[in-house]
Amino acid sequence: MAEDDSQKIATSFLTRSNQASIIFILLLFGLSLATIISLLVLVSFKMDNLSQKDLYNRVEIALSVETRHLQDLVQEYSYWDEGYQHLIVQPDYKWADENIGSYLTENYGVDFSGAILQNGSPAIGFINGVKAPLPIALWMENGLGQIITAARNNLSGRWISSHYLDIEGAIYLVSVGLFRDESSEMPKGDDSFLLIAQLLDDAFMQQLSDTYQLNSLHKLEAGAKRVGADMYLLNPMEKPVVALAWTKPTPGEHYLRQIFLPIISVFIVMATLTWSMLVHERKRQDKYIKHLYLLASKDYLTGISNRREFFSIANREMARAKRTGATLSLITFDIDYFKQINDKLGHHNGDAVLSELARRISENLRDFDVFARIGGEEFVVLLPETGCHTAMEIAERLRQLIHDSDFFSFDNHETIKCTISSGVAVWKNQESIDALLNRADDALYAAKRLGRNRTQSAEIYCPTEYAVTPACGG
Ligand code: GH3
Ligand code: MG
Ligand code: MG
Repeated sequence: MAEDDSQKIATSFLTRSNQASIIFILLLFGLSLATIISLLVLVSFKMDNLSQKDLYNRVEIALSVETRHLQDLVQEYSYWDEGYQHLIVQPDYKWADENIGSYLTENYGVDFSGAILQNGSPAIGFINGVKAPLPIALWMENGLGQIITAARNNLSGRWISSHYLDIEGAIYLVSVGLFRDESSEMPKGDDSFLLIAQLLDDAFMQQLSDTYQLNSLHKLEAGAKRVGADMYLLNPMEKPVVALAWTKPTPGEHYLRQIFLPIISVFIVMATLTWSMLVHERKRQDKYIKHLYLLASKDYLTGISNRREFFSIANREMARAKRTGATLSLITFDIDYFKQINDKLGHHNGDAVLSELARRISENLRDFDVFARIGGEEFVVLLPETGCHTAMEIAERLRQLIHDSDFFSFDNHETIKCTISSGVAVWKNQESIDALLNRADDALYAAKRLGRNRTQSAEIYCPTEYAVTPACGG
């Protein structure tokens, strides 16, 4: 049987609205996923930036602590009358070696130590803990003068000053302190000073990096590409002497990598759940539509087309017959003396006969025939592409089928016999469905008048009557 158009329309409307909601929800998911990922990327970027700044500060602190260590050493010896006596007044290499010289090199890793007179000539000098003349003139060319001046001007409040110097490619952290009088705490007056210098070689940088956890702090080779994680060290003339670099800290990126997969997984699970809920809802709607469709178009008792669906399909079939020129016939039939069945066996057994009769007739029709219950015990069969003779034969076959059938009561105790009377009419071009139905009904009433359990044609060119044994109950 053909499906009603209204079902198709309802289904397609719901499908469209369903698709729209699926697209909307997926869009919402995509949008929130994108927002969350963007926020995470932003946060991780900020985290990386913060830890980069933090590391920069730690490198600065590490260098100033190292400078302070060196200055403390300078202070220890320059603010000590005995030191002044053995280093400047009566230079004593043995004493100097035991107290500065090899002592400082072995215990503090300093590379240069020495006492220098006012005129710049070294009184005592050690290079790597070994007695050697200090190349003061060369150092003066590279900014030592400024360091001494700063110490003399007491900028640190301790008559000490420090700075980085580049001596022929080697970078030193140099600390200078004026010899002072222990009692007056003032410089001795001869402007002599103590010098201690630390070479910033790879080993020193490595040690610094390990001690202060500075992400592989190292010197950036001249001409090497800057990595965005670096710092310049300046000489007293404010000129950069070396760039320090370290591995850029990326805790945010690390964190992002760790949570990226779980977040994506959660979204996939949520999207899948939503999807399955929507699919489930879609199935529920389909079921509901089918239910509505059955309510609206099928007969509740027999399951065949109801009056409403019959008229809708009949009109379509008529339009098609008009288009193609095919013949179209209609059988209408009514159960004989049905009231007696109800009266004798009860309404529920009458219902059982109605539905069993509809089932048997349905099985005997072609797929494209339209079978409907249009009244209490009145049925119609619309026969597309069928002429009067064939329609009469089909009607007669159905009548015979019902005549030969045994119907059973609900409790199976009673065998019920019944017959039908039929009227057959062939659709005439331009005729309405009501007119066709009326003519078939007239033939049906004629069959009733002639004794029932018979088939009557409305057409004069066709066998007008088929009849057999008397109708049951008559
Ligand atoms: P006729 O041979 O002239 O058709 O006699 P009849 O008794 O069949 O005709 P009538 O129109 O007097 O009675 C039809 C009966 O069908 C009356 C009504 O109670 C019964 N009927 C109509 N609809 C239903 C139904 O859904 N179930 C049952 N059990 N009976 C129905
Ligand atoms: Mg009847
Ligand atoms: Mg009737």
